[in-house]
Amino acid sequence: MFKNKHLKEIFEKALYRNFISLIPVWIVIFLYYRPDYFGSSWFNILLIDNQIIFQYFLINYVNIYLQTYVYCHKGENRWQLQAYQTVFELSIILLICIFAHLDLRIFIKIAYGVNLLRSVFLTIMSSFVLILTSDLKPKIILHIPHSSKDIPHYKGFLLGDKKDEKIITDKIEDESKYLCDTLSDKLFSRDYETIVKADFSRVFCDVERFADDEKEEMAKKGMGVLYETFDDGEKMREISEELRNEILEEYYYPHHEKLTEAVEHQLKKHGKAIIIDCHTFPDKPFKRDTNQNTPRPDICIGTDDFHTSQSLIEFTVDYFKKHGYTVELNTPYSGTIVPEEFYRKNKNVMSIMIEVNKKLILYGNFENEVLFFKKLKKEISDYILMLKKRIKKY
Ligand SMILES: [Zn+2]
Repeated sequence: MFKNKHLKEIFEKALYRNFISLIPVWIVIFLYYRPDYFGSSWFNILLIDNQIIFQYFLINYVNIYLQTYVYCHKGENRWQLQAYQTVFELSIILLICIFAHLDLRIFIKIAYGVNLLRSVFLTIMSSFVLILTSDLKPKIILHIPHSSKDIPHYKGFLLGDKKDEKIITDKIEDESKYLCDTLSDKLFSRDYETIVKADFSRVFCDVERFADDEKEEMAKKGMGVLYETFDDGEKMREISEELRNEILEEYYYPHHEKLTEAVEHQLKKHGKAIIIDCHTFPDKPFKRDTNQNTPRPDICIGTDDFHTSQSLIEFTVDYFKKHGYTVELNTPYSGTIVPEEFYRKNKNVMSIMIEVNKKLILYGNFENEVLFFKKLKKEISDYILMLKKRIKKY
């Protein structure tokens, strides 16, 4: 239906938010009216018995609270707005009824009618408004390379004979869990931003590495774009030239194309693009990590001399320090992703890496974990929002 991918994404979001969440309401109405529903006029729909009115209210408000919960969960607080809107709307109708000397039943009917029409109106309007305004404001590009644990296929992996195969595939899966940036997708994802996420494990193909092993320092340790060893140094996979080309063509390049496209789109619309390279890291270093120093900071900010401006670094470091975290620059991990096409060529393509220490969101007791996770997610979401507002300053 839409050629433009961004429009498609927005339309789907609006559709999901509005139409799908209204399905229970429509089902109740349909069940009560069945054939005559379609034959009746809008006016008749308003003059229905009180039973359905209460049910409608109930469902509609459950629906509103569910939607509000989803918004809050994604770091936007709409409880107040929603409550004010409802109280305001009902007060106006009540006042009209009092002044017009109408009884309570009429009040309920009018309130129901207004609510129904509002739902229809909002469903249609918000879809269009979202579509029309989607590109008016810049979007931050959230690059999430290491959140997946999925191994699409085991070609080239040294699986031994049949009886060893299960043990070895289990070991590969464990490695994939061990090396994955746990929860980085949930922590950084934010509505209305552009998310470029790898849907396969870094153990299968690490999109954060250079495709060319000559340029990639980690390739010497058997962990270039296609890992050949486990973290403990044991041999894991044999990469033939053919397999290498196959994985790069099917997984690595398409991922980078998506990132390049997202950057191009922001440059075209807003003249600037900001990428946040989103990661989480273990408190205890991996064996192959170059930097083995401990203790590690809560937040590690990775920068690039050309693509991360001083003001962006200062703003980011100050922001997380102000929220009580220990922050270090390029320690223990350094650098940040920039698509090759713009690398060291275009200063309007900005990039900063944020690595969150997993100890902040894991390893605690369950209750604390959830609380810390929510708190940090909200802080990161606010950070992204502030970045968007100040985008011209960087
Ligand atoms: Zn990572």
